[in-house]
Amino acid sequence: MHNNRVLIVYTGGTIGMVQDENGSLHPFALDRIYDAVPQLRSCEYDIDSVTLPSIIDSSDMTPNLWVSIAEIIENNYNDYDGFVVLHGTDTMAYTASALSFMFKNLSKPIVLTGSQLPLGMLRSDGRENIICALEVASTRLATIPEVCIFFENHLYRGNRSTKQSAENFDAFESYNYPSLAKAGINITFKEHLFLPMPTEPLQVRKHFDTRVAILKLFPGIGPEVVNAVLNAPGLQGVVIETYGSGNAPTGEWFINALDAAIRRGIIVLNVTQCKAGAVKMRQYAASCDMDRIGVIGAGDITIEAAITKMMCLLGEYPDNKEHVRVRLSQSLRGEITE
Ligand code: ASP
Repeated sequence: MHNNRVLIVYTGGTIGMVQDENGSLHPFALDRIYDAVPQLRSCEYDIDSVTLPSIIDSSDMTPNLWVSIAEIIENNYNDYDGFVVLHGTDTMAYTASALSFMFKNLSKPIVLTGSQLPLGMLRSDGRENIICALEVASTRLATIPEVCIFFENHLYRGNRSTKQSAENFDAFESYNYPSLAKAGINITFKEHLFLPMPTEPLQVRKHFDTRVAILKLFPGIGPEVVNAVLNAPGLQGVVIETYGSGNAPTGEWFINALDAAIRRGIIVLNVTQCKAGAVKMRQYAASCDMDRIGVIGAGDITIEAAITKMMCLLGEYPDNKEHVRVRLSQSLRGEITE
């Protein structure tokens, strides 16, 4: 039997740093991955790699780069059994969410990973993360038709993940969906939690509309800030980060501002500020007016998934806002509990 094949797409981030002889950290060229992780020489799968034209700190990630990553995977889709994307942790959950919406009918694993300490440092968590991500992407034990994040022993659904710590090695969490696999002595896959295997061919969506905003509520927020966001030139959609199970100020000025925006065709999506749990429109009086005027409840979606899904749907259906509204209230890739 031939070895399984994995393609690494290297984008940058802390993981790709090695120390030179003077002790300073530099991004490493991927062809040196075997020097950085010598254990890979004895692995039972074949690895190839592609590096983005410029290696970035993931704070510089953009929708155009999501398209570049997606095209690398699309162009190599039939030649590999799985894909590993090395990525900075800061925006990894956004990229994982965006890729999940871009790849419709995905039947192979795309596993993002990175690290809190550079590969070139003695205590780096990067070696373990890369090795496990490659094992997951190449395994014959389970086929994972999903975009995932592997970090510190857990495989998470990408569009359910959030970076929760700038300090700890367990930097990611999936608050509203269990992990898809856990690495201990063995990697245990929880196949009943995977998305179903598609029956249709792969499609890759490549259009994003970035004319969107996130409006986070806080006690004391006033009409100046709310109106400034809602009247931003060209705005097509806004995610409001509300309190608890989707509650917001009940003052007339607030509801009127949202109502006017919705009447201008702006899509308003309600996502909770809480890490766990869901928006439940009309559970409290404080969300009834929003429901009445057409604010869409987004259930237990993460903020990363909500904003990337909105950009992707607006980009894909620029002339069909009603379709975008309906799809935002539904789970497309397992990002909302239904
Ligand atoms: N700033 C880095 C990045 O996101 C942090 C990391 O990789 O962990 O690219």
